[in-house]
Amino acid sequence: MPGDYSGRFAPSPTGLLHAGSLVAALASWLDARSRGGRWLVRIEDVDTPRCVPGADQAILQQLAACGLVPDGPVVWQSQRGDVYADALQTLVNKGWAYPCGCSRKDIESAQTVARHSAAVYPGTCREGLGGKPARAWRLNVRAVQEALGLSAITHWTDRRLGPQQQNVNEEVGDFVLRRADGLWAYQLAVVVDDAAQGITHVVRGQDLADNTARQIVLQHALGLPSPQYLHTPLVLGSHGEKLSKQNGALALELHNPPAVLKALNTAAQALGLPPTTTHSAEHALHQWLAQQTSQDC
Ligand code: GLU
Repeated sequence: MPGDYSGRFAPSPTGLLHAGSLVAALASWLDARSRGGRWLVRIEDVDTPRCVPGADQAILQQLAACGLVPDGPVVWQSQRGDVYADALQTLVNKGWAYPCGCSRKDIESAQTVARHSAAVYPGTCREGLGGKPARAWRLNVRAVQEALGLSAITHWTDRRLGPQQQNVNEEVGDFVLRRADGLWAYQLAVVVDDAAQGITHVVRGQDLADNTARQIVLQHALGLPSPQYLHTPLVLGSHGEKLSKQNGALALELHNPPAVLKALNTAAQALGLPPTTTHSAEHALHQWLAQQTSQDC
């Protein structure tokens, strides 16, 4: 039903859009449009040391060159510190967030299970700082789950990947809400902002799927609704590696219409859509939209 769907694309301005990020942008736009919904853009610039000056505006220009224009004002997370502080205070007041004095080294040496490259937080400061100065703030995952009667295993259904589950406490541990350097953590900012923007459907890259259970626990803790999630296929580089700015994925060249169409066609292919036969980004989007809408029926 028109108006009931709000989607978003939430790039971090740590560089320009690359082939992988355009897949998420295009997929979220097509999903919103095919359901008569709105599509918003949020610049996730909380991790200021990693942000590249000017990348936010350059990303917005790249999106516009592809015909992907947001339906509402763009939001910058760097301007929303007060809102994140209120959310943290709410959790502190409930006894669900606590200060942590551990360094990365402390956590690595205390831990027994490693998940990806990140260490599982062993809960060292849950009962008190033990004389260490406070560095970060963490969510007491088990306290939230027990108080709200939630299962230790968080279940959710991804619209593409199907049923998913994670035991956040065992597989991740009490995760960070505010970092030791004072910056807001992605998990807190994304949950607060998805709710503030009324996002009903999150469509983003599959590399982020692993964050979803944490975000659902946090949504429960803050009394916020959970959107539906769809994680898009990853675009792999020529050596099978994940494309990301960290491993040097090239910024998309979108300086003329043929270059834009080439980039859009590559993104569409990753989504299983046929190559466009038109000569403008707008027409290509409408062609794929027609295809997407007929598939949905
Ligand atoms: N800012 C994140 C990124 O650029 C995306 C976060 C999200 O979509 O939830 O990878």
